[in-house]
Formats: sequence, C-alpha cells, structure tokens
Amino acid sequence: MGAASAAPNITMTAPAPKCPYIGRFAPSPSGPLHFGSLVSAVASYLDAKAHNGTWLVRMDDIDPPREMPGAADLILQQLQQHSLNWDGDVLYQSQRSGAYLATLEKLQHKGLVYPCQCSRQQLKKQGGIHPSRCQLKDPSAPAALRLAAPAQSQIEFEDIFQGQQRQNIKHEVGDVVLHRKDSLFAYQLAVVVDDAFQQISHIIRGSDLLSSTPRQICLQQLLGLLTPQYGHIPVATNPDGQKLSKQNLTPSIDAKTASANLASALRWLGLPLPKARYSASSHELLSWGIEHWQRKLISPVMEKVTFNR
Ligand SMILES: [Zn+2]
Repeated sequence: MGAASAAPNITMTAPAPKCPYIGRFAPSPSGPLHFGSLVSAVASYLDAKAHNGTWLVRMDDIDPPREMPGAADLILQQLQQHSLNWDGDVLYQSQRSGAYLATLEKLQHKGLVYPCQCSRQQLKKQGGIHPSRCQLKDPSAPAALRLAAPAQSQIEFEDIFQGQQRQNIKHEVGDVVLHRKDSLFAYQLAVVVDDAFQQISHIIRGSDLLSSTPRQICLQQLLGLLTPQYGHIPVATNPDGQKLSKQNLTPSIDAKTASANLASALRWLGLPLPKARYSASSHELLSWGIEHWQRKLISPVMEKVTFNR
C-alpha cells in the first residue's frame, strides 16, 4: 500500500467518527516497555489529552505463545511510574473470547468466512497472498478460518500523520485469517471488536501497523462499525535500522530514569522541550507535553533512528 495518487477507483472510504475523543494504548505483553513502545504510549496519551479526550489502556494479550509471564503487570507498572495514568479499567483481550466468537459467527452467517489448511509454503508460492477459497485436504484436521474479502475491497483513509492511504485488500493482502489453526483468535479480528466495544475514536500508534489498518477498516465496514481516525507515528529504530523490540534485545525502560525517558520521548516526537525542563518530574513533563503537543511536528516518515537514549 502507499500514498494515494493513481486514477480513481471504486472505493470504500472510511467515514470519520463523531466525537468525543477516546484514544487508547494497546501493548502486547511480549515483554516490558522499551523506548519505542514508550514513545507510542506518550504520543497516544498526549494526542488524547491535548484534545480533552479519554485515554484507555488495553492489554492485547491474545497470543499466549508470544507473551512473557508477568509482562502485562510490568507494563502497567511502568506506565504508572511515568505518570501515564489511564482512564477507566484496563481491558484484557484474554477475557474477550465471547465477543470475538460472536463477531466471527456474525461474519459466518453472512457467508464471509471459510476454512483453510494451506501451509506456509503454499502461501509463499502465492507471494503470501491467499486467493479466494481453497480446497480442504482433510476436513477433520484443524483449519484456520479466513475472511472472504469483498471483490470491491479498495480501502482509502486519511492518516493523521501519513496522509492519504490506499490499499486493495483482495489484491495486496488476500483473505486474512480471523481464527487461527491453533484455535486462537487473530489480532485483526480482536482489535476491531475491541476498538468498537471501547468506542475508540482515535488510534495513534506506530507505523509498523499502518499496512494492517486497511484490513481493519474493511472488517469494520463489513460489520457496520464506525472507523476511528488513525495516526501512525514513525517507528523508533536503532542505528542499524531495526525496529526497537525484544527480539533485537532493546532494553526495557528503567523507571529510575522516568523523567529522562519522558524527556527523550518528547524530543523524539518533535516537541521543543527546553533543556531547563529535562529534569522536571514525569507529571510536569507530561503537562508540558499536553500544552505543546502539535500533530504537525510529527514527520510523515515511517521510521526514525533513535540516538542518544
Ligand atoms: Zn487456504
């Protein structure tokens, strides 16, 4: 996908939701917060609070094999240590299976879901894009459930930071998995169900999720749900160009240096934090950030190298 520029086509343009502003930060507990995830948390927090909005935290703990025991609690603790205090209760995806199942059944009743036993190798041969329908090798063996993407699945939306976006789900993504062969619900389904349940109006998150946004909008449209406004901030990378993550041994943020961590995050987000304020408390830094937050300071690039952390 990419910035829209080509000739007009039949499109499913995402309608903007009505206010009030409800934002969210939805970490996966695959490890503690690192600088990259702190930046996402701060950006979504500041954008919500600068618009007098509500800021929710949701734990995307839908994939136990990828999770680290204790990480969910640790992340919440780290947020509080940085004065990133959320509104309301934390929602845990691990407790939402009933809602995901009900939504899956809704799509099944519309005839939009079919089973698939394709292997990774088979998918690779198709360039990773699953075609419409496929043959079941063994009807009694486990199968994933895929969404039959509509033929007219050109999705367009205006990203707050990245501008106009366009993607054809059928041709660029294929039929996505909603329920995995290992019986877990897929992230794409869960995130759409929960964003609607929490009435999220604005989603500010890392640009690594930009390419999966159109398929979430497609699902919202098939389910008759409103589409939030999306804003994808650049992903923090190390000087080697790798996204900061547990996999490349990015260290956890240290609560002992909460103010310095926040000062770095504010500067990284383009805010002109004066040097004299670097040693202010977490609370003061966030208040300053709310006052000075400007969306236009975020550059429309997908990645940004992190130096001098
Ligand atoms: Zn298949």
